[in-house]
Amino acid sequence: MASFPPLGDLGAETAGLLARLGVTLGKAQGARPVHSPLTGEVIAKVPDTPADAVDRALAEAQDAFRIWRQVPAPRRGELVRRFGEKLRRAKADLARLVTIEAGKISSEGAGEVQEMIDICDFATGLSRQLTGLTIATERADHRMMETWHPMGVVGVISAFNFPVAVWSWNAALALVCGDAVVWKPSEKTPLCALAVQALFERVADGFADAPPHLSTVLLGGADAGAALVDDARVAVVSATGSTTMGREVAPRLASRFARAILELGGNNAAIVCPSADLDLTVRAVAFAAMGTAGQRCTSLRRLIVHERIYDALLGRLRRAYLSVSVGDPRAPDTLVGPLIDAGAFSAMQVALDAARGAGAVVTGGERLGADILPGAYYVRPALVEMAAQEDCVRSETFAPLLYVLRYSDLDEAIRLQNDVPQGLASSIFTTDLREAERFLSATGSDCGIANVNIGPSGAEIGGAFGGEKETGGGREAGSDAWKAYMRRATNTINYGTRLPLAQGVTFEIE
Ligand code: NAD
Repeated sequence: MASFPPLGDLGAETAGLLARLGVTLGKAQGARPVHSPLTGEVIAKVPDTPADAVDRALAEAQDAFRIWRQVPAPRRGELVRRFGEKLRRAKADLARLVTIEAGKISSEGAGEVQEMIDICDFATGLSRQLTGLTIATERADHRMMETWHPMGVVGVISAFNFPVAVWSWNAALALVCGDAVVWKPSEKTPLCALAVQALFERVADGFADAPPHLSTVLLGGADAGAALVDDARVAVVSATGSTTMGREVAPRLASRFARAILELGGNNAAIVCPSADLDLTVRAVAFAAMGTAGQRCTSLRRLIVHERIYDALLGRLRRAYLSVSVGDPRAPDTLVGPLIDAGAFSAMQVALDAARGAGAVVTGGERLGADILPGAYYVRPALVEMAAQEDCVRSETFAPLLYVLRYSDLDEAIRLQNDVPQGLASSIFTTDLREAERFLSATGSDCGIANVNIGPSGAEIGGAFGGEKETGGGREAGSDAWKAYMRRATNTINYGTRLPLAQGVTFEIE
């Protein structure tokens, strides 16, 4: 049974958390109210960073970069290791703040902070593995190799739904790579950013090799993000958010030839084949589609089910949708917390209306608890059975809304999976090796993430994270994603006494 949080308690709890995490809002009290999605109440006010302070911050970040790039990479890794230790100690408080400010259920709030710790561990090891190739040269007495150097100031623009982890995927790598970081968090989750910054500053202040201003937070809306995008002092911009945001940001970065890491919207599908293990599939679909109230970039949005198992699977899913516990994300038995705000709720209703207009059969989707909490937006997740992949299915609605489609052969299913503008995450549920391998092959899923027998969401940091097409093409976190934060130099060294030219070119002078 759902329980909803009482109105009026969150301001005091937030103030206590911020104090323990080292954030002083006292003098910084400003104009922008911060709402908790749990109740809709204002839990703090923070000021936008004024333009002259943005300018100063970018100059200071550049100064920090010039010092930090000279610190040996394993020493840089030591700073990140210490920050990871700090996060371990602060995990419970920071996770609770994520829950209050972004609305994640407690285990997901804790999981998000764990993801920060994991990427710090990864980056610490990486700081001793920033390796370049040695390449065979065609010239005698020559050696050719690649060296990797820090890029400069890395600007991070982040979305509300991962208010701390996305910064850490970027920052932990950028810091070991020798870069300074300037962060513009979502205007919906500035408190999480201030808390992370306070934790980082305390670690950096006690680390002699770290210059001041290695990490900075700029608060504000799209304008503050645009200041990072347009400033030539910012060498790399990693922007996470909607495709609408990416469409504005990408050409501006291109116009000044800045490096862009774009992590934009997804429209993630799972194909369920006749041989699928349905117990496992139901659990995976439930977490991927309803977890985080459908507010992950990798949330499952389209389920493509073989006609032979459609009725069996849908019967179980309908029951799960009607019984899942929606309510206070701090309560241990809640699985679905609130939507972030009224805008998210109305976007969900618009999408549901469009689907109904196209003949869909909808289970769930209604608002819950509005009489108790008129400023908060809790919804029952919606299962939307469609006859075809209509236009409304092809755009991302950032809410717990799962479109279900039938298929009869795998080629058709893969075509449906790929026939959307986005290309982030995808899954297939099958115990047939041929189907699984086909899905992972060049003629299978066109996404940056393709999974077998697990849902599309909940990635580990060890792999490179990101997607294709309108998802933007960026990669963050593990594998060789670090290369985006460094510049590559190709070096050819002649240790002989002659000067042979490549490709046999001759150029003799007297
Ligand atoms: P959003 O696009 O509204 O905002 C994201 C960030 O971009 C915010 O900090 C915002 O202030 C900033 N911004 C907006 N317009 C800007 C502009 N013109 N110039 C510079 N900055 C600008 O996204 P949101 O509602 O916070 O987050 C949800 C979206 O993010 C979804 O589409 C989701 O799929 C996507 N997302 C993607 C990933 C990924 O890794 N692919 C991860 C998380 C979220």
